[in-house]
Amino acid sequence: METEKPVITSPDQVLVRVRAAGICGSDVHVVHGTNPYAVYPRVIGHEAGGLVEAVGDNVKDLSPGDGVVFEPITYCGKCYACRSGHHNVCRELKVLGCSVDGTFREYAAVSRSQVYKFDASRMSCIQAAVCEPYTIGAQANWRGNVQPGDLVLVHGAGPIGLIVADVAKSRGATVIVSEPNERRLAMAKDFGADYLVNPVKDDLDGFIAKLTGGEGVNVVFEAAGVPALLEHAVEILSPAGRLVAMTFGKEPIPVSFKALNAKELTILGTRHQYEKFPETVASLPDRLDRVDKIITHVFPADEFKKAFEVLADKNSGAAKVILTFD
Ligand SMILES: [Zn+2]
Ligand SMILES: [Zn+2]
Repeated sequence: METEKPVITSPDQVLVRVRAAGICGSDVHVVHGTNPYAVYPRVIGHEAGGLVEAVGDNVKDLSPGDGVVFEPITYCGKCYACRSGHHNVCRELKVLGCSVDGTFREYAAVSRSQVYKFDASRMSCIQAAVCEPYTIGAQANWRGNVQPGDLVLVHGAGPIGLIVADVAKSRGATVIVSEPNERRLAMAKDFGADYLVNPVKDDLDGFIAKLTGGEGVNVVFEAAGVPALLEHAVEILSPAGRLVAMTFGKEPIPVSFKALNAKELTILGTRHQYEKFPETVASLPDRLDRVDKIITHVFPADEFKKAFEVLADKNSGAAKVILTFD
């Protein structure tokens, strides 16, 4: 739809010309009315790269033409979550494309603190759009406290599972990816997975038992969207292991607290990210071989219907689908 071009309304704001924005699973949920946090009507989208068009009077460190990515969240800075370094679960959290208008539009005016400059000589706006999902992978790895030498199991090789695996590898972990879709499983190899398991064909538990001499894996990331795998994780985790729940079922999921206590396990939620943009913006240009593989489709924004169809089609081979705004 046509709207007025946004303008800078405060001296701390930046007007960004959005050039590329990725479609996230959460965007699809907002479209379908199944995102519990969404407020309508809403411009969706939050994974975007663009160019600075204009800056407010107080913004001295950005100039028109600079490449920037968007930080999707804002927070109050005062509540318990904010005071304890968990701004991403602030009680007054606002999220681009969910509770406030997002990035599926040609221009957006946001606070300076909500954009991060990237090196436009090293990556395009399309590549930079993958920065935000990488911050999610960085947050999940931070939550799971992945350490050098840890054995990590990632359930699911969708875009988030692949990114989680890639970040875990850069933290020095050994990574197993479990994924029933062979095409996706093959991609996991490019993202650094040391072991690939198809849990439909292969015995995942047996594989882990053999690999670890019965000890179990140290960290499990559930990025497949299968609630039963959360329940299952406490069985295959080693003592002192961590489960990072990246998906959640509609219904409560039974977990054995006997196993939890016996092995002193930790179960962690993870939501959005906090302070993960600087490191991600800096490291993304070194990951472009993987970034280019994860971007399987690029459509002009006019073809958004086709883009959402491709993303929904299990046989399309789609990982990250990007819309461009020229
Ligand atoms: Zn996202
Ligand atoms: Zn807060």
